[in-house]
Amino acid sequence: MISYGKQSIDQSDIDALVEVLKGDWLTQGPYVDKFEDNLKSYLGSKYAACVSNGTAALHLTSIALNWNPEDIILTTPITFLATANAIIYANATPDFVDIDPYIHTIDPNKLEQKLKYYRKQNKTVKAVIAVDYAGHPCDWDSLRYLADKHEFQLINDNCHALGASYKKNKKYAANFADVVIQSFHPVKNITTGEGGAILSNDKSFINKIINLRTHGMTKEVKNLDNKEEGPWYYEVHDIGYNYRITDLQCALGINQLKKLENFINKRREIAKLYDKSLRNINHIVLPKTKDNVLHAHHLYPIQIKFEETNISRKELFFRMKELKINLQVHYFPVHLQPYYKKTFGFKEGDFLEAERFYSNQVSLPIYPDLSIKNVDRVISSLQEIIN
Ligand SMILES: *Cc1c(COP(=O)(O)O)cnc(C)c1O
Repeated sequence: MISYGKQSIDQSDIDALVEVLKGDWLTQGPYVDKFEDNLKSYLGSKYAACVSNGTAALHLTSIALNWNPEDIILTTPITFLATANAIIYANATPDFVDIDPYIHTIDPNKLEQKLKYYRKQNKTVKAVIAVDYAGHPCDWDSLRYLADKHEFQLINDNCHALGASYKKNKKYAANFADVVIQSFHPVKNITTGEGGAILSNDKSFINKIINLRTHGMTKEVKNLDNKEEGPWYYEVHDIGYNYRITDLQCALGINQLKKLENFINKRREIAKLYDKSLRNINHIVLPKTKDNVLHAHHLYPIQIKFEETNISRKELFFRMKELKINLQVHYFPVHLQPYYKKTFGFKEGDFLEAERFYSNQVSLPIYPDLSIKNVDRVISSLQEIIN
């Protein structure tokens, strides 16, 4: 079965894990620090904290940035649920900004309109979580400009885009955003099984995250109310969680990060093949890449004008599945999830570009181990079913 995404594991990954199993630490040992160091240098940020998954990274961020019920946090409807759920974890108020119809990331013009709308009501937008959808960087120049002008916290949910570059800069994420979120789930650009990371140039913010990922416990004498108790003693000043990552996961992450360039090159090769072969199939709109970016191709999202064909998306999925090809859709717009509708009053028609994109969107298989032969099979199957 060919799926839309899949991890790449080779002998060097297995060796890296076996090495950890023979050592003294399984969780929170030297590999955690080393993976954090490697991520910092890859992404050009001063500080990093690894956690148990990308959702935990978003959750701890929402707490460490002090979001409150009166705070409005904006994000895009075209993202994985976890991005928006993190706003609700902090009891803050989520709202959305529609996408740019060209690259499907948050539209800076619509963001500015929304900021003005809230300002008129004397409400403040505390933060914006932008998502580098499919591996294509957002318009970060505009987002940074708006963040400085309107003084909101700018977060890059970079879970799709590790390995991308913006204006020839691989370190763009930590350059432009105040906080960068990573996930190392198996379908992402590198994997640790489950895993996530938070990067920032703000030392006290990352220290807070490091404290919260282990229950909020502190043993550092300078932070203790009671400095006399003894070496076994710890205190809790903020409620945290067990969101630790393990040494096993980080050893895998260190080895995977070494192969990232290779992984992205493979993804790019597959995307080029799709670009070239699908260009001439009627009713298909291909994903676009702006001139100033290098796409990480986490997804290959096409749009099919089903209304012009005599097949529905559901039928396409079933017929492809018969041919052992599993397609996917990224994403059902978050504001249309029943919980969001009933809790916050969102409805159909609120974010039209996102809804239009969703209704035609299909993600084709793309991952480093997908063979050219199988890419050709996806292309010819699609061609046959659509025409
Ligand atoms: C995968 C993903 C997450 C969540 O990461 P997990 O590690 O699965 O918890 C968050 N945001 C986006 C955009 C993602 O793709």
